[in-house]
This record gives sequence, C-alpha cells and structure tokens, in this order.
Amino acid sequence: MRKLLGITDIVRKFLRIQIENGLSTSFWQDPWTIYGSLLRYVGLTGPRSLRIPLSSSVSQAVAGDSWLFPGVRLDRLQQVLAHISTIPPPSPDGPSDSALWKYKEEDFRPYFSSSRTWNLTRTVHVIAPWSSIVWFPLAIPRHAFLHWQVMLSRLPTKDRLQQWGITSDATCRLCDGEDESHQHLFFGCTYASHLWRHFGEVCWADPPSDLVGILAWLSRPDHAASRNRRKIVKRLFAS
Ligand SMILES: [Zn+2]
Repeated sequence: MRKLLGITDIVRKFLRIQIENGLSTSFWQDPWTIYGSLLRYVGLTGPRSLRIPLSSSVSQAVAGDSWLFPGVRLDRLQQVLAHISTIPPPSPDGPSDSALWKYKEEDFRPYFSSSRTWNLTRTVHVIAPWSSIVWFPLAIPRHAFLHWQVMLSRLPTKDRLQQWGITSDATCRLCDGEDESHQHLFFGCTYASHLWRHFGEVCWADPPSDLVGILAWLSRPDHAASRNRRKIVKRLFAS
C-alpha cells in the first residue's frame, strides 16, 4: 500500500491539468499550476488565507472574467498568486479541463510518451564508448547481454569463482594452460585466440588482442567506411 501511495506521488509530478472551464478541477488538490497540489505547497492554512474552501473547484476562484483573491502576507502565497495571475482564468462556456503529461521540463502535452517518461524518471549516465559494439540494430539479445557483461568484466569466469570460494580450480578448460580470466578466455587462450584471428582476419587484417582494442579497430576510418563488414565483425565478436 505504501508503495502504491509512493507511485501516486511520482505520477502527480508528471500530470498537469489544463484549465478550460475549471469546473472539474480542485483548486487545492489537483496539479493545475507549476506547484502541483497547492494544499501541499502552501499548507493547511491556505484555504483560510485565500478564503477559498478546501472543496472548491478552480472555477470558484473567479469572479466574472478575472481571478478573485484577497491580499496576502505569506511569501509563499504571494508567489503562488503571482503565478496564477499568468494563467488565463477559466471560462464557464469553455470545454472541460484536460489532463496533460510531462514531456520535458515545464513542457506538458496531451498525450503520454513512455520513452519520454522513462527518460525523465531515470538517472542518465555517460554513454560507454563501446556501447555501439554491444547494442546495435538486429543484435541477438542473448549475445548482446553476454557481450555487455564481458565489456564490464562481469562474467563468472573461473578466476572470479575462485576468488568467491566457489571453485578451487581456475584452469581454463579450453587449453588446460592458464587460469580462465576475461582477457585469457577471449584473447589469451590459444584455442579462443586461434578462432578469433581466423574469423576476424576474414574481414580485416590484424584483429586486436584485447577488449579495448576492438573499439579502435572497428573505428579505423577505412573499417568504419565498410558498414556491412563492420556489422559482421560486431556479430562475430559478440558470438
Ligand atoms: Zn585457455
């Protein structure tokens, strides 16, 4: 229940009521100004200070064709009234009030965009320089996910399992030589490096021998120009 109430608070920040006739919008409860719920912003003394009852609609704060407010001393109320004075007063002949969704900061629109809303709720981090070789159109999701773990060195390779006390033997099963680490598994291992060089050289000469080198290799001007070949190498490496 507490979580649901928390979600309601989040949704409230993304909703703005556009005032038309003001009949269905609560003056104190609904988010029709930049301050959200005026009752929350001003406090419980607001209705008495403005002489507008808690149950009033926005249309009840208007006389004729202008807003009707008494003089107030509280800074916060003065600030709210200054803002409301910039909003056209509701017209009794106008259409019904409508809900708008946040599109970007102080830009509300009459439709909901899930991508915009997601971007407004999340913390945006710097894009990793290698992101385009992991996530690209038509990438196989399972390969992309594994590739992402590889670039972060987060695969459960044997050297890590040994550190965690899950296994005592970290020897690479492909070559039975060195310990199985990220660098070894993809480039150091005689078996894996043989496969990588064999297929990599089909596309371009000198396939790199470490993860960081892949990005520079793909970005070389002569390689970047061959878009189809670039796609093949990306898929080859991911698989
Ligand atoms: Zn090996």
